[in-house]
Amino acid sequence: MTPIRVAFLGPPGAGKGTQAARLAQQHGIPRISTGDILRHAVHARTDIGCLAKRTLDRGELVADDVVMRIVSERLSRADARRGFVLDGFPRTVEQAAGLEQLMVDRDGLIAIEIVVGESELIRRLSNRMVCRDCGNAADAGVLTCHVCAGPLTQRTDDIESVVLERLALYRRVTAPLTEFYRSRGQLYPVDGGRACDRVEADINAFIQRRFAFRAAESASEGSESIGV
Ligand code: AMP
Repeated sequence: MTPIRVAFLGPPGAGKGTQAARLAQQHGIPRISTGDILRHAVHARTDIGCLAKRTLDRGELVADDVVMRIVSERLSRADARRGFVLDGFPRTVEQAAGLEQLMVDRDGLIAIEIVVGESELIRRLSNRMVCRDCGNAADAGVLTCHVCAGPLTQRTDDIESVVLERLALYRRVTAPLTEFYRSRGQLYPVDGGRACDRVEADINAFIQRRFAFRAAESASEGSESIGV
């Protein structure tokens, strides 16, 4: 079977985490969030965590080589062989090029860009609560996490001044990635301003079409790609 390999692109607050978690769960493949890995490293006070803490608090980007090391290690694990959903990575053209180097089947990756207008993003981020323990976004109006019942908290980088910085950084550094993938025929933009379930249905229909097509292609070539 053709492994599903997807990277979610889109500004903070677009719903990448929610859609990535749903897609990963549906296909039984890991969701790999570099933000979650880095936040865990900060809490656990590992070497990387201590180095990255200030960067995360300011909403800036962690250095490409540090992020590439994290992703390369994570993708080398057995569970990523059957596919993966990347959430928050790549965020720079350098990271996208680095990911291409890591993959044997280079055009096997699909970048799904979730498009949402800026005023809606600011509204969502300033109201966003996440679970302190597992990082999941909380449902509106609830007091504890629906996944692990942990306490809810506001992310330190969701305060308004930092949100504006993160959005500006996204426009400057990460938005050019859409061109990187568009020029390779690997970009699928979706309107993320709609209800979660409608966005999910749109993504599912696309994934089915795209990966069924690739499976048919590789069957007719008699090849099965190996490696990440
Ligand atoms: P996220 O949870 O994806 O919003 O990420 C939270 C923070 O982690 C970001 O604001 C960055 O400081 C850092 N981070 C996460 N992913 C990356 C990445 N791919 N490149 C650089 N920094 C990242």
